[in-house]
Amino acid sequence: LPLATSPDLRLSVIGTGYLGATHAVCMAALGFETLGLDTDAEKIAALSAGRLPFYEPGLEDLLRDQLATGRLRFTTSYEEAAAFADVHFLCVGTPQRTDGPGADLRYVDGAVEALGPHLTRPCLLVGKSTVPVGTAARLGARLAQLAPAGRDAEVAWNPEFLREGFAVQDTLRPDRLVFGVASDRAERLLRQVYAPLLAPAHEEEPVPSVVADLATAELVKVAANSFLAMKISFINAMAEVCEAAGADVLPLARALSHDPRIGGRFLRPGIGFGGGCLPKDIRAFTARAEELGVGRAVEFLHQADEVNLRRRTAVVDLARELSGGDLCGRRVTVLGAAFKPGSDDVRDSPALAVADLIEREGAEVVVYDPMAMDNARKVFPSLSFADSVTKAALGSDVLLHLTEWPEFEHIDPRALAATVTGRHIIDGRNTLDASRWRAAGWEYRALGRS
Ligand code: NAD
Repeated sequence: LPLATSPDLRLSVIGTGYLGATHAVCMAALGFETLGLDTDAEKIAALSAGRLPFYEPGLEDLLRDQLATGRLRFTTSYEEAAAFADVHFLCVGTPQRTDGPGADLRYVDGAVEALGPHLTRPCLLVGKSTVPVGTAARLGARLAQLAPAGRDAEVAWNPEFLREGFAVQDTLRPDRLVFGVASDRAERLLRQVYAPLLAPAHEEEPVPSVVADLATAELVKVAANSFLAMKISFINAMAEVCEAAGADVLPLARALSHDPRIGGRFLRPGIGFGGGCLPKDIRAFTARAEELGVGRAVEFLHQADEVNLRRRTAVVDLARELSGGDLCGRRVTVLGAAFKPGSDDVRDSPALAVADLIEREGAEVVVYDPMAMDNARKVFPSLSFADSVTKAALGSDVLLHLTEWPEFEHIDPRALAATVTGRHIIDGRNTLDASRWRAAGWEYRALGRS
């Protein structure tokens, strides 16, 4: 690992969920004394004991290593964090509001209200959470009012682009760093923190950085997520057209991906995107753009959202068709619960949304996921769960492949055929080998393919 050149800078990380826990562990790994803070005392107890409250490859080992060095600690005390750190990273959640598409900023605001009154010495509060444009400036003004150190307690924005499943490598080796700053001092401090990545000692390439004002930095994150959402929805819109035209979206996507101006990543047709970021981020962006009077500029995001949600109902329609027109009383197996493979995150999971829709039509739904069963059970307690593919598929009328875990590509369709009632499979991710399933006597159907 590259090491911090200013290891005497002390850091706090406020909000130790997927983003914050990763950030805290990685900052300690760079050599900084780091204090993670969360209002969830159970989470803090688990992290302090070296237990990660979620699944992320490689992170739990790194957490234990860093706890052992003594550089990494966790607390629930804002007073302690304020006294400790020169730079506070703000990583609390910004979920969708329950009463509309906008972002719920209560956690961000709550953190600033809790931290501010304790800030008796100069510091930089660096926002990493994804927020509507304008939030950083508002928080900066509020912090200046609250902090006894006044304007010496400043706000910067350093949006985060990590992907769950690749969180450690994305934090230690990001594609780019974005520094949203309102002063030279803020930029200098951010450069000090990220020096090991900006100027690595070994042969690695330096991570590119972009310096911008606060509003632009906030917008970079939602613009990036909007583009990715649009790319997925674009190929899924083509899948809808293929279904109507009797065409096949897979060779179509492959042909498009050979064009270097388009590229193949995020161009895989399937049941679409979900998770704790893309859906709520594009909705919050449209809500904020409307407030700013430029709603029309991002109208395409409404359509991207609609195309995405329609893919979920398309799977339900296919399952109904394969069940002879009625799902009531049928047994349906759902393979996958996490919103994507490599994660146990079930927030806005397309797989579970489909499972729920099918259960509402009167089917008995049995779910299996290699990693996300506990989380799935908490959110959808009425679904049934089995602890292997074979057990989940026992007596099933229709099998749905909805999260593309590598394990599912290795299923033996011949062996599974003997345990099911109906040999019907819907490949919601277009990653299974259709010819193998058909050769084993299954009716294989997939989205976007006639
Ligand atoms: P999360 O729900 O996993 O974690 C949020 C944490 O904040 C929780 O542990 C919660 O207890 C804590 N919290 C809430 N209020 C608090 C307060 N006042 N003080 C201290 N802690 C508080 O969410 P997440 O997935 O880590 O996302 C956090 C932010 O990062 C969001 O804005 C998200 O959009 C953004 N983000 C997430 C990812 C990702 O892959 N998860 C990637 C990039 C950006």
